[in-house]
Amino acid sequence: MIIGHFAVAYAARARWRRIPLPWLLLATMAPDLLRLCLAPWGVGMASRNDYSHALPWSIGLAAGAALVAWMVRRDKETAWVIGLVVLSHIALDMLSGRKPLWVGGPNGLNLQQFEPLEFVIEGALLYVGWRLLRQREQMHPAARKLALALMLLGEAGYLTTTLLARPYATRCIEHPIQPCWKRRRDQPPTSRGPSDPLRLAGVDGFVRKRPSG
Ligand SMILES: [Zn+2]
Repeated sequence: MIIGHFAVAYAARARWRRIPLPWLLLATMAPDLLRLCLAPWGVGMASRNDYSHALPWSIGLAAGAALVAWMVRRDKETAWVIGLVVLSHIALDMLSGRKPLWVGGPNGLNLQQFEPLEFVIEGALLYVGWRLLRQREQMHPAARKLALALMLLGEAGYLTTTLLARPYATRCIEHPIQPCWKRRRDQPPTSRGPSDPLRLAGVDGFVRKRPSG
């Protein structure tokens, strides 16, 4: 999930006008950014997911972000909002992804395996968040619509990448509803290594080791 997270930042900005939008965007993407930052340090994908998205580390990340916001603004409400926006990322990822809430805990619903459904959910979230922001924020008329269209196009492009990146794709063009390897009774996809962009992006569907043969 990407643009669905942006929606939370837009809605929060519409409600709490004194919090800068870049802060809210950073907060809403903080777990994914932390996971990216851990990549060059040789931390495995599963551990990176744990340290950035699983409890109790995700609460620690939210508390850290809230503390930084409080140190800069000395405003309790800003700190609370920033912390909660970080945690909203974990809640939304529990819908779209399959990462566990904590190590050994319940997994996410993995709605991203149904790619069109994922797009509809994210698009709807973004639309609501963007509309709320538009009602409160002065924007150029072209930007009001263009930005929404560009974000939807970006998300569609990102999801299409996971369709097209064969043979590592988690879905197929001809059958986007279900992982294609399942549909074809094929081997599950394997990662191309730690620098694989899909893997770095946290796309699920990889197996940890290559299947034999
Ligand atoms: Zn995430």
